[in-house]
Amino acid sequence: MTQNLFLSEMIRSELAEVVGEDFISVAESDKLVYSTDWSWMPQMWLDRGKPLATPDYIVYPASPAEISEILEIANKYRIPVVPWGGGSGTQGGALPIFGGILLDLKRLDKIIEIDEKSLTVRAQAGIIISQLEWAVNEKGLMLPHYAASSNCATLGGALAPRGTGTISTKYGKAEDMVLNMEVVLPTGEIIHTPLVPQHASGPDWWRIFLGAEGTFGIITEATMQLDLLPESRLLRAILFENLSDALEAGRQIMTRRLNPFVIRLYDPESTRSRIKKILGYEYEGAYMVMGFDGDPEIAALEESKAFEICEKMGGRDLGREPGESWWQHRYDFYYPPKNLKLPWMYGTTETITTYDKIEKLYWAVKNAVEGGFKEWDVQFIGHFSH
Ligand SMILES: Cc1cc2nc3c(=O)[nH]c(=O)nc-3n(C[C@H](O)[C@H](O)[C@H](O)COP(=O)(O)OP(=O)(O)OC[C@H]3O[C@@H](n4cnc5c(N)ncnc54)[C@H](O)[C@@H]3O)c2cc1C
Repeated sequence: MTQNLFLSEMIRSELAEVVGEDFISVAESDKLVYSTDWSWMPQMWLDRGKPLATPDYIVYPASPAEISEILEIANKYRIPVVPWGGGSGTQGGALPIFGGILLDLKRLDKIIEIDEKSLTVRAQAGIIISQLEWAVNEKGLMLPHYAASSNCATLGGALAPRGTGTISTKYGKAEDMVLNMEVVLPTGEIIHTPLVPQHASGPDWWRIFLGAEGTFGIITEATMQLDLLPESRLLRAILFENLSDALEAGRQIMTRRLNPFVIRLYDPESTRSRIKKILGYEYEGAYMVMGFDGDPEIAALEESKAFEICEKMGGRDLGREPGESWWQHRYDFYYPPKNLKLPWMYGTTETITTYDKIEKLYWAVKNAVEGGFKEWDVQFIGHFSH
């Protein structure tokens, strides 16, 4: 046995002592599974037959205490650790590009407590978001983080990269719903942040874990704010002749705080291509979906005020059916057979700016992408939301 093989087996057996032989793998087939998430880079490497970055050890811990011990081993041998939730990330954050230990967190899948008075749920971070949602739905509640990947993404995976969802416009992002967390620090120390709805003094230092994608610590548990399942959801679609008028209508709806739970505007190109492909409607212009929820009377009033604004800006009411159909098929945009996939190469960027710059930014990016890569006939399409 060479020195390297000896060391590698020593690390493997130390890890196995922590989690048990059944919960560690060094099989090549498993390594391959964890070498691609949903970001385009590894997909392209795979397609082109290029080598993928693989982990050395895949470990499936069952508790924060086990994670703490694993981190101590990693520190002793100075090897990298990458947390992995559902592996649905589109930015490559879960890829083990330097090898080391891949920590699959899906055994941390327990719901610890649902508090029906304070409307909170305390759950382990490896639970799949949809499973959490189904459990709280049974109590008439919802976790309003409706990401298109909820069927495969985990709670920790929503918090670590600051995920958004379809209804974030009204309910906020995953990070806005979190009340406290249990985190295993890189040193192996386990900490709990205070369980309070708001902090009245001092900086919210614990927010550094949100967006850190595991680099400052591994989230093992979180208490999330829930909401009542809405009594009503009113959806409709509006068609605008041009993007400018549609953006202005959206700005007025939002600045007057009419509180849509969803407002999503497709640019003319995505109206022509994506709306046609997914919903089957053929429209020229900018397609806007808006929805209002909650108490039926309040939702109806908010909707009528928003609709007045749309009409003033030249929007044409397409009625409820195209709005409801969008809601029903809202995730189809991202899954086979209707998603964008190889051999088309594509990338997604999320861009944030203030109202005064939205349209300028849109055209600047579109011109840069389409003008800068003319020889590839690249097409830029976009939608506006949240
Ligand atoms: C079809 C599809 C639709 C999508 N739709 C949305 C959407 O609507 N909204 C959205 O925000 N995203 C969306 N995404 C992107 C992705 O699904 C989300 O970012 C999701 O929250 C990632 O969760 P995950 O459990 O799969 O995390 P992973 O992909 O496993 O990990 C993501 C990052 O978080 C880190 N991480 C994971 N778990 C932990 C933990 N417990 N502690 C610390 N760090 C951790 C990882 O190391 C990595 O850096 C979509 C992806 C796909 C493929």
